[in-house]
Amino acid sequence: MQILDGKAVSEARRAQIKTRAEKLHKALGRRPGLAVILVGEDPASHVYVANKIKACHEVGIESFEHRLSDKTTANQLKITIASLNENPMVDGILMQLPLPKHLNSDEAISWISPKKDADCLTPENLGHLWSGKPITSPCTPTGVMVILEHYKIPVAGRNAVVVGRSNIVGKPMAHLLTSADATVTVCHSKTKNLSAELQRADIAVIAAGRPEMLGKGDFKKDAVVIDVGIHRKPPGPDGKSKLCGDVRLKELDGIISAGTPVPGGVGPMTITMLLENTVRLAELYGK
Ligand code: NAD
Repeated sequence: MQILDGKAVSEARRAQIKTRAEKLHKALGRRPGLAVILVGEDPASHVYVANKIKACHEVGIESFEHRLSDKTTANQLKITIASLNENPMVDGILMQLPLPKHLNSDEAISWISPKKDADCLTPENLGHLWSGKPITSPCTPTGVMVILEHYKIPVAGRNAVVVGRSNIVGKPMAHLLTSADATVTVCHSKTKNLSAELQRADIAVIAAGRPEMLGKGDFKKDAVVIDVGIHRKPPGPDGKSKLCGDVRLKELDGIISAGTPVPGGVGPMTITMLLENTVRLAELYGK
């Protein structure tokens, strides 16, 4: 089994992003800027945001952090987003999801200017993507496509099975694979026989959000398995807690042809595509 190393692919891509960010710095007289909005105290979100901010600095993107309390009202969030929409130092806005339950994510996403939508979540940017003329591209599924491309894994004409149909991963993943000429099946929590669907997968992308749900017996010989899931396991006897995905990858050695590990697979690519979207928005609209 070949390990598809998302960290290595990321590093190569980030070197290109850094060059683009330097060019922008010269052209605009400022660095491209990403505003990160974090509402509430979700520990996983705090870790993701810290990683994104660190990655920004490494490639020469300025970051602006907006940490809001979990008591933030919809109106306060709307005012924060409106001020970032107007701020000329900000090229991209990332609102870390999930939001606390009292806030409506779809409504909050609609307040982000499509010209600053670093995650490609606004209806306008999804429309561009769906019509085949993307301006930005959703970070996680695009990261998966970049991994496939980097390792020269053929997609056209092959059977791809996506497990999960969320707006952020599953649905856009199915779209990108279809655009790359795969024959795509989307599975979800109401799919009757997941195993049977997966047996047809030349490429399986798993984004069910269920820790170590799939393993030996679930994939056909020589399949390529991309694991999008990220979970923190409960601490072991040594008191340390490890990350895992939706797939028990070790069991698949000798069966599948290639797979992404967790950590070090799709996760780093998601951040890289966020950086790439920010630079692209600055190239298109930055002043
Ligand atoms: P979600 O909970 O919004 O969606 C999960 C999807 O999986 C749903 O469409 C559901 O129908 C489907 N599903 C759930 N159980 C299933 C089952 N038993 N069989 C078939 N389908 C099932 O989650 P999401 O936001 O799409 O994220 C999915 C996973 O990916 C999570 O673990 C999340 O943490 C991770 N994630 C990782 C990255 C990254 O950068 N690697 C980015 C985003 C999300």
